[in-house]
Amino acid sequence: MTQPRTTAELRALDAAHHLHPFSDTKALNDEGSRVIVKAEGVWLTDSEGNRILDGMSGLWCVNVGYGREEIADAVAAQLRELPYYNTFFKTTHVPAIELSAKLAELTPPQFNRVFFTGSGSESNDTVIRLVRRYWDIKEQPEKKVIISRRNAYHGSTVGAANLGGMAPMHAQNVALPGVVHIAQPYFWGEARQGETPEEFGLRTARALETTIDALGEDRIAAFIAEPIQGAGGVIIPPATYWPEIARICRERDILFISDEVICGFGRTGKWFGCETFGTQPDLLVMAKGITSGYLPLGGVMVADRVVDVLLEGGDFNHGYTYSGHPAACAAALANLAIMQREKIVDYVADDAGPYLKAQWSKLAEHPLVGEAPMLGMVGALELTPDKIGRTKFPDVGKVGTLARDFSFRNGLVMRATRDRLIIAPPLVISHGEMDELVARAKKTLDDTYAELKRLG
Ligand SMILES: *Cc1c(COP(=O)(O)O)cnc(C)c1O
Repeated sequence: MTQPRTTAELRALDAAHHLHPFSDTKALNDEGSRVIVKAEGVWLTDSEGNRILDGMSGLWCVNVGYGREEIADAVAAQLRELPYYNTFFKTTHVPAIELSAKLAELTPPQFNRVFFTGSGSESNDTVIRLVRRYWDIKEQPEKKVIISRRNAYHGSTVGAANLGGMAPMHAQNVALPGVVHIAQPYFWGEARQGETPEEFGLRTARALETTIDALGEDRIAAFIAEPIQGAGGVIIPPATYWPEIARICRERDILFISDEVICGFGRTGKWFGCETFGTQPDLLVMAKGITSGYLPLGGVMVADRVVDVLLEGGDFNHGYTYSGHPAACAAALANLAIMQREKIVDYVADDAGPYLKAQWSKLAEHPLVGEAPMLGMVGALELTPDKIGRTKFPDVGKVGTLARDFSFRNGLVMRATRDRLIIAPPLVISHGEMDELVARAKKTLDDTYAELKRLG
């Protein structure tokens, strides 16, 4: 029998052969990566036997928690029955059919059709193709510009990265023409002194209107936004923001794309973030929680009024080999069956969400914390040297990283965006586990505060 590799051996192989995404691989190789070997519920286990509470649902995706036999069984059965077939050339298959119908049932009423992809990034690339095709068919080919927001995240293919507004990504990217970025509704970071959240929400929303006017409505194809920016730091907009955006989208002849890769499938306490915020998207982008991350799958829901136009346009020359992969669709169906049977969306809205928020909000009293917003199962802790003046630490990101590393050592995965810690735990987290999460977050703040004091 061969011996399993030791942690040191695994780290050495990883360091020798693996280029990590969104990482400084050279620095990581010096430090050594943590090897995750198994998981159950909300708990990860690493190769050294440490149990870590996954406050990030992997990467915002493991909504029903780890270790669901039912999903594994559905995938195994599908792989035995029909592991692969395409949906390109006048063919289809049962899992893609069943999942299309299920998504039409679960999404808001304007949606009855889905285009399948393999990821959130592929879905957003698909969106670029779809909206341009839509305006071409309508004989308005000059409508090409997509308006997005600074610090938005829409994925990492070239198309999706350009839709996104992440400065560090744009710094490494050859920008494509046709994407314009406007202000984000990040009150803590970007409001003027003396401005109320309500005023700030209206002002940032109206940037959409003034940008449409400045560029000309006849050149604008669409506006894309996440209901709550995730990777940008869990930016929950002020209450005035989404109603004003909804008004502008109603009044203007542009398409509205809701990127629900994080907010979709229960994260905000409704099935989709657009339902939480009362918007009416024409395109709805999905991935992550659709399978709870058990297999890669994405998709774009297309509203009837857009479908009606597309169907008049003949061939749509776009698709991926793995569009609607049978095993991934089977995983999604099993995942959604669990969500419905266990009433997980209601649990987030009526029980877990309010329970966690009550404790999480109290962390705002910590000397290091400026604000501790939370909605549904997603929240943030803005770390600041000055709560009143809303100032930033001089070397942006350093304190955030310090805190994130403490958090890992305290047995809790939190992520850091700049100096903002973020959480998005599995939606099925229990009360006891939420108590544990908050206790570990509190200890992380204390450890970070003590370390900053020590460093002066
Ligand atoms: C993660 C994410 C994406 C990209 O999804 P991938 O599956 O990583 O390509 C797109 N949009 C949002 C809002 C995301 O959080």
